[in-house]
Amino acid sequence: MQVYADNAATTKISDHALRAMMPCFEKFYGNPSSLHSVGQEAKEVLEEARAKVAACLGCEAREIYFTSGGSEADNQAIRSAAFYGARKGKKHIISTAFEHHAVLHTLNALEKEGFEVTLLDVKEGHNITAQQVKDAIREDTCLVTCMYANNEIGSVLPVAEIGAVCKEKNVPFHTDAVQAVGHLHIDVKKQNIDMLSLSGHKFHGPKGVGALYVRRGLPLVNIIEGGAQERGKRGGTENLPGIVGMAAAMEDACVNMDKNNAKVVALRDKLIAGLEKIPHCALNGDRENRLPGNVSFCFEGIEGESLLLLLDAQGIAASSGSACTSGSLDPSHVLLAIGRVHDVAHGSLRLSICHENTEEEIDHILTTVPQVVELLRNMSPVWRDLQTGKREYIL
Ligand SMILES: *Cc1c(COP(=O)(O)O)cnc(C)c1O
Repeated sequence: MQVYADNAATTKISDHALRAMMPCFEKFYGNPSSLHSVGQEAKEVLEEARAKVAACLGCEAREIYFTSGGSEADNQAIRSAAFYGARKGKKHIISTAFEHHAVLHTLNALEKEGFEVTLLDVKEGHNITAQQVKDAIREDTCLVTCMYANNEIGSVLPVAEIGAVCKEKNVPFHTDAVQAVGHLHIDVKKQNIDMLSLSGHKFHGPKGVGALYVRRGLPLVNIIEGGAQERGKRGGTENLPGIVGMAAAMEDACVNMDKNNAKVVALRDKLIAGLEKIPHCALNGDRENRLPGNVSFCFEGIEGESLLLLLDAQGIAASSGSACTSGSLDPSHVLLAIGRVHDVAHGSLRLSICHENTEEEIDHILTTVPQVVELLRNMSPVWRDLQTGKREYIL
């Protein structure tokens, strides 16, 4: 049995999105900037897609800028707030310790350019509170950037409360909502979100395309200089097939969200309940405020990498830590940020499911993971030391 349980890394494109894209290759191949009718037809298709994306977020079409993905949107949002903040002498940014690297590495670069960054602690409840944000805001704060939902451990942040605090203090609020869009109900106006990043391939759209929502009136700097596309804020001929596929996937995900989530949450909770029976393990992330499809565990006395390889041999595609850090030997910064020590963080497993996963697949995971964990523990010198009492259990 083949089970794809790595939907937080990327999703399979839906038939609906794929079908929506085909006419962009076959019929609407014009350049939306061209003045002839072939170009203007493509332009119409582009603007229809923009309206769809805006409708799903509760904003105006002109507040949507298409990008090459979530990473570019994060870079542009943060760089923009930093640039315009610095002009007013404000060079302090607030974020969290468990952001995606697209955010954290942009903040690292800004620190080298003289900005000061406060990363909020996420050990308590594997989440942050709006009060933490409120306490961290200073006179010179030019941006609060907190993710909507964490890609590794699934915690969903109190975004509306953070938005209210930022509005009250008059500080721009950006959220990396790449894991939330298409999975959670979002209304940028009600939630007081000033900027929001999203990415097509995390909700069954195509890869290499995303969007940045920016509240009307907030200024942007360009990451990609070029032509006048995207109201002069993002140069380069628009990726029309990608944009149209993303908009179709987003509309589909938003229309079917409640139905899909009812199924996904039931499967998720079955997985969590089953895996929690394994001795010396711990659930990562916020138990209550959690992404519908996220299951994340640490198992003491094993290596996450070996676990993944053995699961793959049983047909299960999963992840440990984030796909972006795999290949390096450092444990995930997210697991370290929630307080998992190195040894424990190394034994992590993330299963991220979607509405296409079946009960049979979940049962396959639930019989396979305990077997594989036991197999690895029986080969592990660390596990032997734990069992003989030479080492103390942490979990
Ligand atoms: C996947 C992801 C990104 C990066 O999006 P890309 O479109 O792959 O660049 C950023 N933030 C989070 C939380 C993600 O899960």
